[in-house]
Amino acid sequence: PIGLVDGRLVDLNENVVSMEDRGYQFGDGIYEVTRVYNGRCFALKQHMDRAYRSLRELRIPATYTFDELKSFHELLIKESGITEGAIYMQITRGVAPRAHGFPENVVPRLTMSIRPAAANTALKEGGAKGLFVPDERWLRCDIKSINLLGNILGKQRAKEAGCFEGLQVRGEYVTEGTSSNFFVIKDDVLWTHPAHPVSNLILKGITRTIIIEEILPSLGLTVVEKPFTPAFAKSADEAFISGTNSEIIPIISLDGAPVGSGQVGPITRKIQAAYEAIIDRECGR
Ligand code: PLP
Repeated sequence: PIGLVDGRLVDLNENVVSMEDRGYQFGDGIYEVTRVYNGRCFALKQHMDRAYRSLRELRIPATYTFDELKSFHELLIKESGITEGAIYMQITRGVAPRAHGFPENVVPRLTMSIRPAAANTALKEGGAKGLFVPDERWLRCDIKSINLLGNILGKQRAKEAGCFEGLQVRGEYVTEGTSSNFFVIKDDVLWTHPAHPVSNLILKGITRTIIIEEILPSLGLTVVEKPFTPAFAKSADEAFISGTNSEIIPIISLDGAPVGSGQVGPITRKIQAAYEAIIDRECGR
């Protein structure tokens, strides 16, 4: 297993992280996950732009240029020989004696790793079950922070109920999955929760943006970015989650009840095919 700390290649089994890293003690940091297809990073610019925004929102200085981050991603691919995989990148505020306020003169720490990623073929083809779970996260879900306690508790609750993803509910409304965005389709219209600058309650997924800005216009489909209730979702014709790792996974049941026919729907299939075509084009598959 291969990793990178501030540009230096390391073995993942090496003890490279300080006990006083603020990421370790406070969850004071941000992350990104980028997929590698055919040995090339997919949507790297979008992921790095979002990382810079997350850093700005947390007032962590950006100490690497896009070209540097890009070269680190390429180095991990080259050194590992992995052509189908996922690269994890984390930047914390840095290492300093533990105190809540920002330390003076602290240097942010970059850690990265690459792992092979298998295609979710069975789930993409056959669909997955979703469970509504309480959204117990903080109010800045627009920041891709490494604090993921609410997300992991929601995911585990879904997993223990035999479901693939927890669809989080805050107050009356469905926000998003625990590691994905959530769309429902009713009467040929797509619905999804609004993202920043309209709402801080979900992560503005790169996959979500590709669907909304590239795929739906090309298919002549309309999206409504408005909050909706679990009852509305349960009455939908189709539903799916989107994410870098999940790609587009149909949700065929919610809380044990079938969505629409209980089969993967035709609009979800078209969106999946369009997403594959974009990966093919971008990564030369
Ligand atoms: N929402 C949450 C909470 C996530 O962790 C993720 C990450 O995969 C997403 C949405 C989807 O974002 P993206 O499409 O950028 O991977």
